[in-house]
Amino acid sequence: MTNVQGESRRASVKTDFDAVIIGAGFSGMYMLHSLRDKLDLNVTVFEAGDGVGGTWYWNRYPGARCDSDSYIYCYTFDKNLLQEWNWSERYPEQDEILRYLEHCAERFDLKPDIQFGKRVVEVVFDDNTELWTLRTEQGDVVRARFVIAAVGALSAANIPPFKGLESFKGKCYHTSQWPHDGVDFTAKRVGVIGTGATGVQAIPEIAQQAKHLTVFQRTPTFCVPARNGRVDPEVTTARKADYDGIRQRIKNSFFGFELNFILKSVLDTTPEEREQEFDRMWDVGGFPFWLANYQDMFFSKEANDVIADYLKRKIRATVNDPVVAEKLTPKTYPYGTKRQPLDTNYLETFNKKNVVLVDASTDGPIEEITPNGIRAGGKEYPLDIIVVATGFDALTGSLKQLGIKGRGGRALAQEWEEGPQTYLGLAIAGYPNLFTITGPQSPSVLSNVPVSIEQHVEWITECIAHMRCRRQGAPLPALPRPGRRRRVSQEVRRGRREGLRGLRVRERRSGRNRAHNCGRMNLTSPDRELRSFSRLPARRFRRKSMTLPKSHGFAHPRGGK
Ligand SMILES: Cc1cc2nc3c(=O)[nH]c(=O)nc-3n(C[C@H](O)[C@H](O)[C@H](O)COP(=O)(O)OP(=O)(O)OC[C@H]3O[C@@H](n4cnc5c(N)ncnc54)[C@H](O)[C@@H]3O)c2cc1C
Repeated sequence: MTNVQGESRRASVKTDFDAVIIGAGFSGMYMLHSLRDKLDLNVTVFEAGDGVGGTWYWNRYPGARCDSDSYIYCYTFDKNLLQEWNWSERYPEQDEILRYLEHCAERFDLKPDIQFGKRVVEVVFDDNTELWTLRTEQGDVVRARFVIAAVGALSAANIPPFKGLESFKGKCYHTSQWPHDGVDFTAKRVGVIGTGATGVQAIPEIAQQAKHLTVFQRTPTFCVPARNGRVDPEVTTARKADYDGIRQRIKNSFFGFELNFILKSVLDTTPEEREQEFDRMWDVGGFPFWLANYQDMFFSKEANDVIADYLKRKIRATVNDPVVAEKLTPKTYPYGTKRQPLDTNYLETFNKKNVVLVDASTDGPIEEITPNGIRAGGKEYPLDIIVVATGFDALTGSLKQLGIKGRGGRALAQEWEEGPQTYLGLAIAGYPNLFTITGPQSPSVLSNVPVSIEQHVEWITECIAHMRCRRQGAPLPALPRPGRRRRVSQEVRRGRREGLRGLRVRERRSGRNRAHNCGRMNLTSPDRELRSFSRLPARRFRRKSMTLPKSHGFAHPRGGK
């Protein structure tokens, strides 16, 4: 009886959209294409920016480019798209990736269903109607049955609360909010705060233009050369002919790359043998040094030390001043436990006469921003421009900013104060019909992200098709069951604890590697991770649900069978 009443009440409430997607980067664009063109749903997208592209719309700092190889840093769901697009370099620059995403938006006719310049600030579930109401900063109010947060794991800027920031008389830019017409550093004294992946890309470029550059470092970074360049046309042709194989291999790999670890222990090799292997990976450049190295670097401190030692020797061999080399040498965390930045002349930049490194532990941390520059370790460094390269409030930041309230008015931001709890980064108990793409506890930024995105979008599409077919879009109570959610979170925690036994990864409180935010990510491939998800109905309904006639709309009472 209750069910019947519930269903008729739901049927009488009008929705503006079947689904609302938040964000128009890689995730939101593919989600729109899938829900609108495969399931024929009535969908809209709210995007805070004035164009598509997400990460590649916002991050326009000098040197911004991807560090996944371009042939797999793209959508792979459309065979024709794979054949028609040509990348110019191994790691294309921001403007080329943005052009690619613009091309996809045109090709799949996405823009008519995207509302640009609309920032979602409230997403509230109504227990009675079982619908979500979304509000934007610009005053829009819409109601939908499904909400998909495609807001990006790295889209909420992290700006540390520096004392005196407002008082600075020069210009100050965060790298993810870069002016579209660029910044001229000619004849300027520039300070860059942060030496993570973004700093590693930006510092060599800025040093070439600026009169003087001061780099403020909190934690040094292990770097491996990117070895960017044009891709041999024969290699490109061979890859285009083998995209079915490539797609299969990246989906079944640990991190979404065509890379696999060396199973042998590095401790079972002779110094000559491993040196040869390290040199080979170093010369190839890119992620092999991190993701195709001896696997026990993740399980044994002794093994990790052997590999880290190779990189430390490279720092000493490249940086002329031994004091500066020492400052640039990481000492407080094991190699490989942060996403590996790839560099082009990063270490060499510290040999330039116009570049100074101020290290928080040896020279003293930043104390305040003054009207004329930055004071660190009791000394003032005069500056005209400050570049804040401090990364993101990663993984949870953009979701917390949505003002999400689930069943019984539960606020997500409050519930996640002690760290996120999700079902594999895809769904959250107590927040029915709300999906997240590359959310916390998914492989997310530890993977080649487009691979994780495609996996999530395809799973969400199938799940919604199933709900539409069987339950007329009513919230699926089993998604996820609170008990199951807790079990999964425990499994994820245990995997991480055991996987990194002996390494004692230090919890970091800011930047991409904020373990607290990650909610203990599982180091596994999206495919493997989602295999346990197959206990939910996705696999069973695939064939049936994807061939539903259009007449199976939400208004049909029990029409799905
Ligand atoms: C500089 C940089 C380099 C990177 N390089 C790589 C790489 O080489 N390989 C790799 O795998 N990954 C890389 N990444 C990670 C990258 O974020 C992903 O690869 C991918 O672009 C994520 O796509 P997305 O659509 O999930 O998120 P995003 O691209 O971040 O898009 C999210 C969108 O949501 C919008 N949004 C957020 N909140 C709201 C709101 N409240 N209302 C409305 N709209 C909102 C944002 O404006 C944004 O447009 C990089 C990230 C950065 C920052």
